[in-house]
Amino acid sequence: MVIDDFAGCELEARRAAGLDRRIRWIDGAQDTWVTVDGRRALLLCSNNYLGLANHPAVREAAAKAAVDYGAGAGASRLISGSMRLHRELEEQLAAFKGTDAALLFNSGYHANVGTITTLVGNGDAVFSDELNHASIIDGCRLSGACIRIYQHNDVEHLDALLAGTVARRRLVVTESVFSMDGDRAPLTAICDLAERYNAMVMVDEAHATGVVGPEGRGVIAAEGLQHRVAVQMGTLGKALGTFGAFVAGSRAVTDWLLNTARSFVYTTALPPPVVAAAAAALRIARTDAERRQRLHDNAEYLRSAFEQLGLRVGARGTHILPVFISDSGHAVRISERLLSEGVFVQGIRPPTVPAGTARLRVTPMSTHKAEDLAFAVEAFSRVFAEEL
Ligand SMILES: *Cc1c(COP(=O)(O)O)cnc(C)c1O
Repeated sequence: MVIDDFAGCELEARRAAGLDRRIRWIDGAQDTWVTVDGRRALLLCSNNYLGLANHPAVREAAAKAAVDYGAGAGASRLISGSMRLHRELEEQLAAFKGTDAALLFNSGYHANVGTITTLVGNGDAVFSDELNHASIIDGCRLSGACIRIYQHNDVEHLDALLAGTVARRRLVVTESVFSMDGDRAPLTAICDLAERYNAMVMVDEAHATGVVGPEGRGVIAAEGLQHRVAVQMGTLGKALGTFGAFVAGSRAVTDWLLNTARSFVYTTALPPPVVAAAAAALRIARTDAERRQRLHDNAEYLRSAFEQLGLRVGARGTHILPVFISDSGHAVRISERLLSEGVFVQGIRPPTVPAGTARLRVTPMSTHKAEDLAFAVEAFSRVFAEEL
């Protein structure tokens, strides 16, 4: 068929550039050790940072909700009615984020696309960090607003772009902890600027929620910006170990989204087991400070070990450790060598990251033990001794 010719050509071009992707098969749960393509390996590339995806209390909450409420939500919440589980989780999330209200979305992707397209449209302007996640980029593109990309975390560049706009409605959007670099946005400075230019601020806390700040409430809470950021987005699928996402803000914002965000209105609500599991995970994330501390300790241990091996590691003080390789093919080869040594780490390549900045993205979990991390460092040491 003609489609197979097209597909074949496209795939061949990706393969030739070292950019083809494939799925690796895992047996069992997302735990510290997994069976990848039939081989035991230490998992160092999951966003299940706190180890909650397979936590007994979280699993039990999902199982109980499945028994009590069934497997599915039946329709969009605006159609067949919303279960109280969803409302309760929204109230807990609003309290967690220090806002009046929160609205659940089916994923971070849905949340970003639906929110950005609601906040801005034709004739408006959106200011987006150059390293923002694909779901933010897609939201910006779909919104129809004029898109201005500022250099990564560069407040002066953002200032210049804001000064040059005539659009009435302006939105600045950034991640708080960047997904592939692990560094933090200068949120206070961004809020200062936004206020000066009368712009709204939206912050994606996908990688900070559950991990950073008091009770894991994120960078916004850590910097006391709850009342200066119009829209706080967070996900349930990363540190909270389950699935879904939310937007926290004023009641006016969440009501506006409930009415107009197409990725909220036109999709079936999250299944009850997922919602109940997320609520259980949120309780643990808020109260188990030791679990959060172990994640940061594990990340610090790996960082200093990698630095001692002479590897080029990204920003300090974060749980996401990019080990820069540059060349895409090289990054994939190293990741395969590491897997053969029993360590599962992905090579991250364009277009996920800018050209020439391929890297291994290493993410420890709270549940990794000292001997797990020592095992990883040995494997890195052997592989990089051959490869660099
Ligand atoms: C993962 C991620 C998302 C998407 O969240 P999902 O719930 O996985 O769809 C959005 N923004 C950032 C920064 C992310 O890393």
